[in-house]
Amino acid sequence: MKCQHLTPLPRSERRAPCVLCEQTNYEILSQHDRNAQPLPTVICMHCGLVSHESIPSDDELAEYYSKEYRQDYHGEFQPSGRRVLREWKRGGELATRLSTHTHGYHTLFEIGAGIGCNVKHFELAGLEASGIEPGCGFQQYAQSQLQANISDQFFQDLSLDRQYDIVLMVHVLEHLNEPVKALQTIRKLLNPGGLAYIEVPNLEAPHSRPGRLFHFAHIYNFTGSTLAMLARKCGFRVKHALSRSSDKNLMILLERTDHETLTLDQSSYQCVRTAINRYNNLTYHVRWEYVKDRCRTLYRQHSARLATNYRLSRILQRCQKPQQTAFHKAA
Ligand SMILES: [Zn+2]
Repeated sequence: MKCQHLTPLPRSERRAPCVLCEQTNYEILSQHDRNAQPLPTVICMHCGLVSHESIPSDDELAEYYSKEYRQDYHGEFQPSGRRVLREWKRGGELATRLSTHTHGYHTLFEIGAGIGCNVKHFELAGLEASGIEPGCGFQQYAQSQLQANISDQFFQDLSLDRQYDIVLMVHVLEHLNEPVKALQTIRKLLNPGGLAYIEVPNLEAPHSRPGRLFHFAHIYNFTGSTLAMLARKCGFRVKHALSRSSDKNLMILLERTDHETLTLDQSSYQCVRTAINRYNNLTYHVRWEYVKDRCRTLYRQHSARLATNYRLSRILQRCQKPQQTAFHKAA
């Protein structure tokens, strides 16, 4: 991306070092969240990592998730039929996307597995797949309806007595207050040469209009550059970047290595600021990509409404039918 001259931002008073580069120079990117509530968001001037100015503690996060998160995201205790269809489609796309990279791998574990669609798709593709999900309504649905091997457990309580070939973490890392510790834990969960698939929102993509970018639940906001730097710092190498810089989500496949190295991307800070400032409310909405995306979303919602019950019953039938998978045949 071509970087341009940027106007100075106010400096932050935050003292805690950046979790990525361990420097302490920050600028304030935004004072409010997407609902116009106060939420100071800062960018590290050294590495470009974007986060809340004040990182919530474990207790603050527990309080938020027990009381406010579901309301903020209009979430459900039990998943709606439309959610199941959407997640099932995404799980199938993920299994297909990773299929060329996972030949010869046998065990898979997902952290924050939701209703279990990813795990179930990999199981149907022949892997021994399991996961954990702390939300008990979703975890119960995964076990009882999809018959996916998902246990009711928090990431922080996970025992490290078993290793896997592949670990998935899809839209979880941005919610955690200690992303370095999280990736280091994933590394411990992997066999030598094992793979970690990480998916997070892409801060550089115009996925939300200006003023609606930040949210309390997303403590860290990653770009391709900051996510790759974080991965190397935690003992991984980037095996494949599976997304483009314009995609809404970053999809990155990492391989466990024997060394932890922080290689600073010198252009990261300026590129993040350029990306965030490139649209105003008008130019954001008149983009052809935005119009196309809205049309696609409306069409998808309309067709999903028409066929939800039929398609859902077909998925559940498929999950409950005994499967003779390639993995079981091999075993
Ligand atoms: Zn930094």
